[in-house]
Amino acid sequence: MRFSLAALLLSSTVVGLAQGTLAIRGVTLIDGSGGPPTLNATVVVAGDRIVLIGEGGTLQVSDNATVVDGRGKTLIPGMINLHGHVGMTNGLVQAQENYTRDNVIENLRTYASYGVTTTTSLGTDLNPVIDVRDAINRGELRGVARVLTALQGFTTANGYPTQAPGVKGLALEVSDPAEARAQVDRLADSGADLVKMWVDSHHGNFEKLHPNISRAIIDQAHKRGLIAAAHLYELADAKHLANAGLDIIAHSVRDGAVDRDLIRRLLARDVTYAPTLTREQSTFVYADLPDWLDEAFFARSVSPSVVQGLRTSMRETQSKDAEQAINRKNFRVAMRNLKRLADAGVKIGFATDTGPPGRFPGYFEHWEAELMVQAGLTPMQVIVSFSKTASEALGIDRDFGTLAEGKIADMILLDSNPLGNIRNLRDINTVYLGGQSVLQQSLSTHP
Ligand SMILES: [Zn+2]
Repeated sequence: MRFSLAALLLSSTVVGLAQGTLAIRGVTLIDGSGGPPTLNATVVVAGDRIVLIGEGGTLQVSDNATVVDGRGKTLIPGMINLHGHVGMTNGLVQAQENYTRDNVIENLRTYASYGVTTTTSLGTDLNPVIDVRDAINRGELRGVARVLTALQGFTTANGYPTQAPGVKGLALEVSDPAEARAQVDRLADSGADLVKMWVDSHHGNFEKLHPNISRAIIDQAHKRGLIAAAHLYELADAKHLANAGLDIIAHSVRDGAVDRDLIRRLLARDVTYAPTLTREQSTFVYADLPDWLDEAFFARSVSPSVVQGLRTSMRETQSKDAEQAINRKNFRVAMRNLKRLADAGVKIGFATDTGPPGRFPGYFEHWEAELMVQAGLTPMQVIVSFSKTASEALGIDRDFGTLAEGKIADMILLDSNPLGNIRNLRDINTVYLGGQSVLQQSLSTHP
């Protein structure tokens, strides 16, 4: 169904719309492309796609349509998270026994309620995620964020995170390129959307994936049409992975300042850099008893017992953590590196690493946006990072990312404009997934 823009601009044009069509009128539209907002826009959604975007004028629509008065409101793309994990956590415990279809759905419902309309799940998944993803894509499961899965991520024998709580035995420990290629094939045949690898010795405590193996993983992933994402820590690894054609750097470089050589390589290979600043904060912030533990916007999706656990056991653990000083330093380095890379024109994506204990889906995506602004990015750069750039990094930009005619209507209607203050992202009126309103009362209420 197409309408002519010229007709829309005429005063009192009557556009006949099919039953179930949605028209948001008079709204300020930030489409995610990075261009200036469109004031007084009309956005028409039929089925699950945007069919028309008009500017100004008066549009009268037939009674069949649902018309939303967008005056004073702002419409932005839904957030796309390049680094999340679903299904693993219950309360503050990460364990494979937690991984059920219901828990995956619950996590995705929480993401959606905060405006995260697509998340990835990077390397800690079990089979239920495939069923859930496919049910969402078929339209059988509504009101939850879409998910792209890497299934199990790659590491090497005795590599990180083979000993991490709750993920023991989950990562694929590969020891040569041929084995790595065979495993990429197996993941592709099992329905993975992308591949994930951990390239990190964790301060020398674990074996690190050899560059010959990471190169083979990336090459084979691309042969199978899959995106390749990496967890990394060191500048040197970011460089060789960029040269190997990595698509997404899924954490900040944290062992020191990024340099011109890295910038040149990231630009040359069109690599997306996704900083996960909240992930760094999560390693020490509970020692400081942050104010936001009392915020309704946080507590609405987190049970009182979990909040209590953060105030007590998590606070104590982080207060005594021998790595607390280095964790705080890592955060500061990550903030500076983000600004440096953004200023150099590197593609900045949006990612949080939410899902593990203490890293809360939904709330942390909003906090990540705020930290990116604190690092020196503009609110517009942040919006572009979670829409246009994230969708391109995942290869889903034909259908998702920016708000444009022909695209899926995953979007957030805000009661205020985030360009002046990024915290206005919290001012959610309605989250739309494929043009359907996600009920705000369907919030996670974990007992
Ligand atoms: Zn992760």
